[in-house]
Amino acid sequence: MTVIDHIYPTHNEFRSDTFTVPTMSMIEKAAKITTYGDSVYKEDEITLELEHQMCELSGKESALFCVSGTMSNQIGLRANLYQPPYSILCDHRSHVFLHEAGGLATLSQAMVHPVIPSNGNYITLEDIIENFTPDNGDIHAAPTKVISLENTLHGIILPLEEIKKISAFAKSQNIRLHLDGARLWNASAETGIPIKEYCSYFDSVSLCLSKSLGAPMGSILVGDKQFIDKANHFKKQNGGGIRQAGIVTSMALVAIEENFPKLKKSHEYAKNVGDFCVSKGIKLESPVNTNFVFIDFKAMKMNEDLFIKKGQLNNIKLMGNRLAFTFQNDSESIEILKKVILDCYEDSLINPYEAVSSNKKLYNIVTK
Ligand SMILES: *Cc1c(COP(=O)(O)O)cnc(C)c1O
Repeated sequence: MTVIDHIYPTHNEFRSDTFTVPTMSMIEKAAKITTYGDSVYKEDEITLELEHQMCELSGKESALFCVSGTMSNQIGLRANLYQPPYSILCDHRSHVFLHEAGGLATLSQAMVHPVIPSNGNYITLEDIIENFTPDNGDIHAAPTKVISLENTLHGIILPLEEIKKISAFAKSQNIRLHLDGARLWNASAETGIPIKEYCSYFDSVSLCLSKSLGAPMGSILVGDKQFIDKANHFKKQNGGGIRQAGIVTSMALVAIEENFPKLKKSHEYAKNVGDFCVSKGIKLESPVNTNFVFIDFKAMKMNEDLFIKKGQLNNIKLMGNRLAFTFQNDSESIEILKKVILDCYEDSLINPYEAVSSNKKLYNIVTK
């Protein structure tokens, strides 16, 4: 439970790791020792300190504090590109492709080449070789200029061995390699592989501060100096220049120092719930590597609306079949969550549910 849990409870929050709230020590640091320089002019000391610390942590030359992970991904990908036509290859479930408001089409004028991993979980070098478009003089297609990976994706850790192979291939083809590392913190906490080692295989990496780490806002983009200078230009162009950024970057520093070591707790919660599901015969969509459990509602004929409602009745916040865990949860809520899952599963045995997609529901309403 957080110190401010009584004001804004997060112990029972399983919708997303974005619902984490700043801890009391973050708020105290922001109030007591922040600086008030204008960070657009690079005059805010605490923001410079955060960026410097992220250079140390990632082993990259330069770092840029951004308002959101969407911004650091979008300007990061843009800064890796020069003159269209070009394409970006990524997993078909990628955040940069599906959840960033179509930014790659408007901000980068890029064609996206979404790839379905053949092993069902994570993209491999074989998938990339099968799908990339070489820049070989063929004037019909848009050559792959960036490969964008995501670690973790669906809570799944992309194995370091695979990253190494993809990185070597990208270099050999003169393709830039970006990492959406919104949750690289979780991968690193689980595997023990330092952030720096992961980052060494990429040209650019975006790391979120406001997910599990609990900072109120912000993301960091890292890369070499020339790249970050170019990205900073796009940051300003997109309205992302923050003046007195110290108020939030001071909280981000505390988030890294105090909460990074706590992430493993959220993985333990997720594994506890994942193991529980498996022991009861409830199928999962993905393996539980870090802080997510995806229950296969479709295969189990479980009713999502009923699940959310049962959660509400038990003071548990749910969004659907994806369960997100954070260090701000508590074990009591985990036990209640398990009861709600079992209850919903048992209901499905009596009343098997045939899911109707929300699009289809809407379409039926319109045509009636
Ligand atoms: C949350 C998230 C982002 C960035 O999201 P913002 O809400 O814009 O900070 C990027 N990538 C992944 C994988 C995410 O989960």
